[in-house]
Amino acid sequence: MNQSAEDRRNEALAEGSRLAASLFGTLAARTADPPGVTRVAYGEGECAAYALMADAAHAHGAEVAFDAGGNQFITFAGQDRSRTLYVGSHLDSVPHGGNFDGAAGVILGLAAAAVLARLGQTAPFDLCVLCLRAEESCWFPHSYIGSKTALGRLDPAVLDTVVRSDTGETLAWHMRALGFDPEAVRRGARRIDPARAVAYLEPHIEQGPVLVAEGRALGLVTGIRGSFRYRDAAFHGAYAHSGATPRRLRRDAVVAASELVVAMQALWERMEADGHDLAVTFGIVGTDPAQHSFSKVPGEARLCIDVRSRSETTLEEVRQRLVEFGRGIADRRGVRLDLGPLGGSTPAVMAPRLLDQLRGAAVAAGVAPIELASGAGHDAATFANAGIPTGMVFVRNENGSHNPDERMDMADFDQALALVVALLEQPPARWA
Ligand SMILES: [Zn+2]
Repeated sequence: MNQSAEDRRNEALAEGSRLAASLFGTLAARTADPPGVTRVAYGEGECAAYALMADAAHAHGAEVAFDAGGNQFITFAGQDRSRTLYVGSHLDSVPHGGNFDGAAGVILGLAAAAVLARLGQTAPFDLCVLCLRAEESCWFPHSYIGSKTALGRLDPAVLDTVVRSDTGETLAWHMRALGFDPEAVRRGARRIDPARAVAYLEPHIEQGPVLVAEGRALGLVTGIRGSFRYRDAAFHGAYAHSGATPRRLRRDAVVAASELVVAMQALWERMEADGHDLAVTFGIVGTDPAQHSFSKVPGEARLCIDVRSRSETTLEEVRQRLVEFGRGIADRRGVRLDLGPLGGSTPAVMAPRLLDQLRGAAVAAGVAPIELASGAGHDAATFANAGIPTGMVFVRNENGSHNPDERMDMADFDQALALVVALLEQPPARWA
């Protein structure tokens, strides 16, 4: 590259970075809910984020459309208009979350399109910046609602059985309230046809501590862990007087729950030593405040169980062991374990060829990402499991995510921008 071409390129990247910084700033201001931001799925903050991205899209000459479930599609015309390359992520957040989780992927897509336009280039295929709804399962307790809807893969029962945590209204109700068409979603209507999708790329802040620990700005994701979850499990025993009830006559739900936690921790240790990828978490454990007391043997203990792995076989093996442990503990302690509804998501492998293209783009852009697996779930898993070549780029982020202290430096974001622009500059033949 001669000097003036390099200058032009740097100037275009700098302009893309300024656009992104301004979008991040406006988004944080419009969805502020101190401390942090709140963008409720199918709610006010998410809609404000959608409107902001649509305005930016219009200013850059893109077409904006919605699917039946309310996902937003921002399309920049490409060289080959018969197929589409998707770049994007979700725009909802957890309550009082950080500004970058989800939004960074959408904003990076818009900034990359702006850089290409500034360089006088056209993406190899139609470039669609995808704004997905309802990824954070704190609002509706179901994984990847937006991406499943976009691909016509949402279980229709979810529309009527899953309710939003703050309103108690169903997903179908919320879709209708915003003017969308849950009946079309129910019929499996989809705006994304996997046969015409070249790839789905999801840039996202890293939600774990690996990039910070390694001192690297970027990561290329090799796979996404899946999960199984019991959000409403409970041991039921019997409340009794703490002084008057001898040990052998107790049906203590807390002791039973503790035994299960310890047994699962030991199982995790053993399986990890055998080379299994696994994470076991009991995120909520508690007694019933309406009935518990310091002088009562606890008759009920509620538990949330979240188990993750890159391997479906491992997940199933652990689930079976969990059921066995529960049965044994219940028998020994005279209590009953009710696991409640089972939820979760399927692990996903990222496309080897796209990963290879990303490696090439990294060289071209002069950035040096590491490769790592994603412990957190992402919409990318839905795309990968629908057979669409899928990749993810992680941007370094301090202090974890799902909290107001998440921190991404624009210098790191700029490296991701350069990487994605270099990827989009690869000719159609490389994508095939
Ligand atoms: Zn996210």
